[in-house]
Formats: sequence, C-alpha cells, structure tokens
Amino acid sequence: MIRIGIYGYGNLGRGCEAAIKKNPDMELVAVFTRRNPSDLVIATPTAKVVSAKDVLDYKDKIDVMVIAGGSATDLPLMTPELVKNFNVIDSFDTHANVPSHYKNVDEAAKKSNHIGFISCGWDPGMFSLNRAIMQAILPDGKDYTFWGKGVSQGHSDAIRRIEGVIDARQYTIPVKEALDRVRSGENPTLTTRQKHTRECFVVAKDPKDYARIEKEIKEMPNYFSDYDTTVHFITLEELKKNHNGIPHGGFVIRSGKTSDDINHVIEYSLKLDSNPEFTGSVIIAYARAVYRMSKRNESGCRTVFDVAPKDIQTVSYEELLAHTL
Ligand code: NDP
Repeated sequence: MIRIGIYGYGNLGRGCEAAIKKNPDMELVAVFTRRNPSDLVIATPTAKVVSAKDVLDYKDKIDVMVIAGGSATDLPLMTPELVKNFNVIDSFDTHANVPSHYKNVDEAAKKSNHIGFISCGWDPGMFSLNRAIMQAILPDGKDYTFWGKGVSQGHSDAIRRIEGVIDARQYTIPVKEALDRVRSGENPTLTTRQKHTRECFVVAKDPKDYARIEKEIKEMPNYFSDYDTTVHFITLEELKKNHNGIPHGGFVIRSGKTSDDINHVIEYSLKLDSNPEFTGSVIIAYARAVYRMSKRNESGCRTVFDVAPKDIQTVSYEELLAHTL
C-alpha cells in the first residue's frame, strides 16, 4: 500500500481523498490542517485528522504527501518546506512562477533526498503534457488553449470583494466561433476577447447597487476589462440551487503542417463535473510515480514532463502492452 497524507483540506484536499478511494494500492493515513483538527469532518473514517504543527510525527508513516494548499501564498512556502521531510506533490498553477518554484523545490529536495513533484493537475498538468507532445509532433504549427465552460474561483472571489456583493460565481466560456476557426485548421491569431467570454451570477444586498456593481465588474482590470462580460443578478437561493458545483474543462488544440497544404489538427479536451475531483485524480495517479521514483532513490523536483506513462499505472507493463498499446 502507498501511504498518502493530505496537507490542507479544502476543495482539492477532498478531491484527492475521493480519488484515493478509487485506487486500491493507496491508503489515506492522515489529513493535516492548520485549523483546529476537531473542527474537521473528513470522509475517510480510518484516517486521522492531525494539526499541521505535528506533521513531523508522520515523517516515517507517509510515502507521499499531497500538498493541497492554495497556489497564491501557500504552495510557494509549503512545498520547499515539506520536501525537507517528505516526498511531496502539489498543484501549483501560477504559470509565470513555475520556474522559480521548481528551483526552490529542486534545491530542497536534492538536499533531503526526496522527490518534490510540482504543478500536477490539468492545467498545469494534463494540458501541459499534451501541449508538449503536440509541439514535438507538429513543430510547424500553433497551439491554442481554451478554458471552460467552468467556474473560475479567482474571478468569483474578485467579484465577492466588491462592496455590496454577498456571493458570486463566474463562468469562463470559450467563444464557439474561435474554437471552430481553430478546429478548421485556419491557424487564426486571436485576441483575449476573441477567445473567451465571462458570465457572472451575482447576489447583491440592494438592487439600487446593481448598476454600480455591474460597472465595477466589467471595468475591473486584468480580470474582466479585456473580455466581453455578462452580469446577471440572482437570489442567494438561485445561486445555491443552480450554481453550487465546481465544473470546469477546456481544450488544447494544435494545428500544424507537415508539407505545403497538408495540415493536421490534434485536440485534447476535458469536460469536468468537478474541477477538484478531477485534479485530485491526476495528483493521485502521479503520486504513484512519485513513490516509484523515490523507491529508485531518485531525488529533486519533477513535473509531468519527467514521468513515463508506465509509472502512473496500477497494471503491469505486460498488461499495458497486451491491452492498452
Ligand atoms: P481551497 O481554498 O478550497 O483550499 C486551500 C486551503 O485553504 C486548504 O488546503 C485549507 O487548508 C484552507 N481551507 C479550505 N477551506 C477552508 C475553510 N472553510 N476555512 C479556512 N481554511 C480553509 O482551494 P482549492 O482546494 O480549491 O484549490 C487549491 C489550489 O489548487 C488552488 O490554489 C489552485 O491553484 C490549485 N489547482 C490546480 C489545478 C491544476 O490543474 N493544476 C486545478 C485546480 C486547482 P487547511 O486545512 O490547512 O486550513
């Protein structure tokens, strides 16, 4: 059994817990939290809930620690720190800061002889892997990533911070016309506005504020001002009834030529009912590779680019050859 710890118990922590239940070679040993452990109810009765302060008591009891904290402020600190004592895997998704995160984790992991796997999930993660494979196969081409339809937690949070807003959900939606042009092999140059639209469902305290809130959303730099944005005001009951899930997904498409007038289009798409449950499933599959790399005495930082597909499998190589190749 591969003994797993989950460090941080939010959406992703729960998603990883659900994924462990689908993998018979994995066992959840403990969930670590910065909150009061007695306030947490987890879904695995056999696992312990432990204060994050006591994590080192589990140094020899956990094979791979999944770090399920937030990318913005938790993971840049947690992953280099925890890799000093554990093999770890995180879902760090601030694309621009991946190289510096990699460097910090690599240094600490090599010193302590552990594996520190970073940026696992779907983007970064499965989308990155597909982009890399597509680029190698069709070097004379162009790739496109579309996200959605799905809930963007960051954009939903940004709306919630506006004065007078009680709650909000923001969906990112790919523009069908742009998708169709890419799929046709046209290789268009697309602006931010041409690729995605944003749809917001907002619960506000007072209808008198609707116009101001809508204006503040639509003009918010970085988040909304570069997009065509639609704002709907709804009741809290409607939000809870119709917008309670965390669906997401998207498309990675590469279109490229192998000769004049010979074009190819490769597409990888995801349609996810639950972003954290899917992300958790990717993490748990790659946790198996982390375990195997550490058993081979490897150390340092790793990403999806380093892992052979056979290392994330529960079945043997022979079975892969016979049934999957
Ligand atoms: P959450 O905000 O749900 O959880 C983050 C941390 O906040 C938890 O580990 C938990 O730590 C703490 N927390 C959670 N709920 C509460 C609460 N009610 N009160 C106080 N603290 C709480 O974030 P997600 O789990 O949704 O996402 C984690 C990260 O995963 C994101 O930042 C994102 O970057 C990344 N991600 C990556 C993807 C990819 O494809 N690579 C896809 C999806 C997400 P503690 O238990 O210690 O309090």
